[in-house]
This record gives sequence, structure tokens and C-alpha cells, in this order.
Amino acid sequence: MSSIEISNVTKRYGDKPAVDNVSLTINKHEFMVLLGPSGCGKTTLLRSIVGLERVDSGTVTIGGRDVTNRVPRKRNISMVFQSYAVFPHMTVFDNIAFGLRNQKVADNEVKRRVGEAAELLHITELLDRKPAAASGGQRQRIAVARAIAVDAEVLLMDEPLSNLDALLRLEMRAELKRLMKELQVTVVYVTHDQIEALSMGDRIAVMKDGQILQCAAPLEVYDRPADRFVGSFIGNPPMNFIPSLSPTGAAALMGIRAENIVLHEQAHPTALAGRLSVIEPLGSQNLYTVVLQSGHTVKVATRPDLHIPIDAAVWLEPMTGKALWFDVDRGNSVTS
Ligand code: ATP
Repeated sequence: MSSIEISNVTKRYGDKPAVDNVSLTINKHEFMVLLGPSGCGKTTLLRSIVGLERVDSGTVTIGGRDVTNRVPRKRNISMVFQSYAVFPHMTVFDNIAFGLRNQKVADNEVKRRVGEAAELLHITELLDRKPAAASGGQRQRIAVARAIAVDAEVLLMDEPLSNLDALLRLEMRAELKRLMKELQVTVVYVTHDQIEALSMGDRIAVMKDGQILQCAAPLEVYDRPADRFVGSFIGNPPMNFIPSLSPTGAAALMGIRAENIVLHEQAHPTALAGRLSVIEPLGSQNLYTVVLQSGHTVKVATRPDLHIPIDAAVWLEPMTGKALWFDVDRGNSVTS
């Protein structure tokens, strides 16, 4: 399985770049997630890797070979789409065998590889049936089995779980992660779901307006967002951004996660004074909304057994070393 090198790739529709001078290296066997809101260019970047879009400038290399001008079938990439497009008139076996037969693989080899893929995805008992007899989750597995059966160098997935219900999504998330590690495949996975990104990715590339704002391991992106947008997009609740003075004395935004704030019920010299306005019990924790004297709203996560009455005066203290600093205008991190 191969590494992918995306260098200065731009793809425009009309005047507007959907992908704007993006460079990204995806390592061999890495599970890379492209994460961002609708319209940020994730799908366009994925389609540029697979060759369904012709890029305006830049290059794509896979396993050291420049594939920028190659048609999709010459790139040795397999893809799973959101609308997992299984063929209803074919049996599950024929669905999984589809790519292999296109590649003119010999019959006994087709049988072996389909059997292997079906076993990995626990759908062996469905092989003789039509997809109509399969559940949503099983159909999704058929699509993944078809993609892995061809033994491509790279597997691309575009929101493959988004059509499944919440519980099945959770199950498939863990299953896909296990499977991809087992197969040691290089994966590029598109999603707008930050939980999926945090839980599955070796690294996450966070995109906005056709650009990658940060590419790093999930906890790094969560703990040290490079940009205000990243801190807001990743994490529930979003990171708090409080107008403040930075350690250098300059005006800045202090970025602090809800779980990194200590809530005091008595006045505290280094803490920000405010008033408790909403309590949301979430089971494992309580989420408190506090309105500061400055008028800014801050979310604070506390132990579930802490009970403070609404409207009580409270004092918020960022935990040592947890506050980050962001430029007021540009939103980029200025934490040294
Ligand atoms: P989503 O999560 O909604 O699929 P995305 O992040 O994958 O969004 P893209 O589909 O890559 O975003 O779209 C990026 C931008 O390019 C959007 O502004 C979109 O409207 C535009 N775009 C995408 N495909 C085309 C096309 N074929 N013609 C014109 N504009 C397009």
C-alpha cells in the first residue's frame, strides 16, 4: 500500500477555487480524515486524488508515481461512496466481484478474494442473495467488501456511514477502523462529523474554504487547534473564546475547553466572575453556561454531582497551562 503526495493542488469551478493550493502527504498505511463543513472542498479533493476531477494546477503522486494526468482506473484506487451504490439485480457475490471481473481476474481468484472480503465483513451468509435482502448496514458492508476485494493501493471513502442510523454508525465506525488497520491499507476518509474524525483518524486534515487549516493527530487538533475555526468545529461544546489579554499584554482571544475550567463558588483572585445561567445534565458531566460580567458566554463542564443554583455568582479559573491564545482578527493561534 502506498503513500499519497498532494502538491499545490488547485481545482476551480468558474472563478471560485473549490480546492485552493492544497498540499498534503498521506503516509503509507495511514488513516487520513478530511474533515470540514459542507462546501469546504473535501469531496473535490477526494475526486482529484481518484482522478474523477482534472486539477487546474498541482500534482498528485501515489506510491511515488505521478498520476496527475492518469485516468481513474490507472491509479489503482478503490472508492466507497456515501450512496453505497450496490447493484440490486446482482447477487451480493457478483456485487463484490464486480471490480475484480472488470480487471479480468481469473474465476478461482475472484472466488477466493470475494470469500475473503465477505468473511472480513461478516456477510458470507449473504453471498447468494440479492442486496434487497440485506439491511442498510449489511449493504454498506457489501460496498466496503467490493472496494477492498480489488486489493487497491489506496482506499478512498466519502461519508460512507452517513446514511446509517445512529447506532449502526457507531458500530460500523469501530468495525471500519479495525478492518482498515487489519488490512494495512492507506485510507483517505471524508466526513463532516467531528466525532467520526476524532475516533477513526490517525490524522485529521481540517478544511475550510478549499484550504487545509491544520493537519495533525486527533488529540493535537483537539488540544491545540491552530485556528479559531478548528477549535470551534472540533469538540462538543466548541472551544470557548474569551476576549482577554495575552501573556504579552496584547489584546487576544483566550481559547479554553469547557473541561479545562475550574468553577468556584467563592470569589477567587485569578478567576473571571460571572453568573450561572443554564445547567445541562449530560449524564457523565454537567454542562454549565456562565455569563461573564463582560457579557460573554462560557461553557463549563463539571462533575455530574455538583449542584449550584441557577443565577448563582460563580468564578471561572482556566486550568494551568490549558489556555491558548488566538489573534483577535485573523483567528490564528498565537500561543508560543
Ligand atoms: P459536502 O460535505 O456538502 O459534500 P464538500 O466539502 O465535499 O461538501 P465540495 O463538494 O468539494 O465540498 O464542494 C466545494 C465547492 O465547490 C462548493 O462551493 C461547491 O458548490 C463547489 N462545487 C463542487 N462541485 C461542483 C461542480 N461540479 N460544479 C460547480 N461547483 C461545484
